[in-house]
Formats: sequence, structure tokens, C-alpha cells
Amino acid sequence: MAPGSPQATDRQPQPAPREIATNLNRVRAEIAAAAAHAGRPADAVSLVAVSKMHPVSAIREALAAGQRGFGENRVQEAEGKWPVIKADGPDVVLHLIGPLQRNKVRRAVRLFDVIETVDRAELAAAIASIGREEGRIPGIFIQVNTGLEPQKAGIPPKGTDALVRLCRDELGLPVRGLMCIPPVDEEPSLHFALLREIARRNGLAELSMGMTSDFTAAIRFGATSVRIGTAIFGSRPRVSGAESEAGDDH
Ligand SMILES: *Cc1c(COP(=O)(O)O)cnc(C)c1O
Repeated sequence: MAPGSPQATDRQPQPAPREIATNLNRVRAEIAAAAAHAGRPADAVSLVAVSKMHPVSAIREALAAGQRGFGENRVQEAEGKWPVIKADGPDVVLHLIGPLQRNKVRRAVRLFDVIETVDRAELAAAIASIGREEGRIPGIFIQVNTGLEPQKAGIPPKGTDALVRLCRDELGLPVRGLMCIPPVDEEPSLHFALLREIARRNGLAELSMGMTSDFTAAIRFGATSVRIGTAIFGSRPRVSGAESEAGDDH
């Protein structure tokens, strides 16, 4: 399905460099078309290229093709890849899109520009206090478990308003918006519509929703950023993050 994925006979896990640039251009065109179709300007939707499980070499190809927003789902993996890239000075914006454990908050705050997976008061409080200590507070998205899946991270929709208030009004965190990962076996549009409604009633402007399989629908429902991995970098060597929520490093 994913245009960048290797053929069955091809043992190489990575697409060729040119292919990453080609994939990026195609994804950008698809985003612009979906936005136009929804009557939204093309620049209303930003692209977070999800580079989890892919090597620094692949990331550099995306950078060479002009990509600046990236997503990783594990703190430890990101620490192994991004400091060397950042040392070269590109103005990247790095998003944490996987579950965050309390004991990795300091490392996450140091490395990431945006944390999309805030889903509980304890975690929010830790980000606020450690962020102050570090003099660096990332942008925040609240992750909502719109499908009420027991194995998935995210706050249930019912608890979201209270968590937004806590983060924004009591902790002073820069809450930019909401993020969700719809259940794999359900029509995603219902989840996108629900996330949009929760954001609307909380006065939040940004919606991080939509992945390789469903980003055009997400854009139709108001996504302001889409998180796309497979369509850019090809298939990953093993299941991670979005599918399993096995999540953070052990
Ligand atoms: C892996 C991941 C993505 C990207 O998924 P693709 O299907 O490869 O585009 C998006 N969001 C989250 C939270 C992820 O973990």
C-alpha cells in the first residue's frame, strides 16, 4: 500500500534517497490537494515526518528535501539520532509522539520542541516543573484516547476539558492543541470529528491527527498537522508506537 515500501523481493529496509525526496513531494502534494478540497489553504496543514525506526541517513535525505518537522516515539531512540543531526544546525522542530514516562521527562524536555502525548496531570506537572528548571518548555498537545482503547495512551474524552484547564490555567503550559490516534479497525472520521469538537469547546487551535492511512480524511476534519511515516520513509522493520503502544523504552 505505502508507495515507499520495499517490494517483497527487496531486502533493503530503506528506500533509496531519491525515493524519500520523491515521497515527500508526493505527500506534500496530497496534503495540499486535501486542504484545497476542504476549502483550506495549503499552509493550514503542517507535515510531521515520522522517522521512528529509520536511521539518521534517511532523516538527512528528508532534511535535504526541505523537511523540518519530525516525529519520534521513543526518547531513547531519538537521543541516539537527533543530537548529531542538530549539531549540524538545521532548524528542525522535533515532536515526541509516543508515550512518555515520568522518569524520562527531563530527557524529553531537553530534546523535543513539542510533546504531543500529555495525557495525565502527573505528567503535565512534571513537564511544567522540569521545564522551568531547564529553562525550556516544549509546546504541548493533549493526547485524547477517542476510542477508549484500554491498551492505548491518552486521556478519555470526558477528562480532557479538566486536563486542558489544569495544563493551561494552573500549570501555565503552552497547550497548542489535541492529538489522537484512532482505533485501527474503526472509521477514523468519527474520531477526528470528536477531537475537533473537544478542541473547539476548549478554544484550542491545533489538531494533530492523521497518519499515512488516513491523513486526507483528517485534513477534511480540520487537522492542522499530520504525522506521516510510512508514506515518506517506507515500511518500518517492526511494529511500534501507534499500533502497539508498547511505547517507551524498557
Ligand atoms: C508511527 C506513528 C505515526 C506514523 O504512522 P504511519 O502509518 O507510518 O504514517 C503517526 N503517529 C504516531 C503516534 C505514530 O506512533
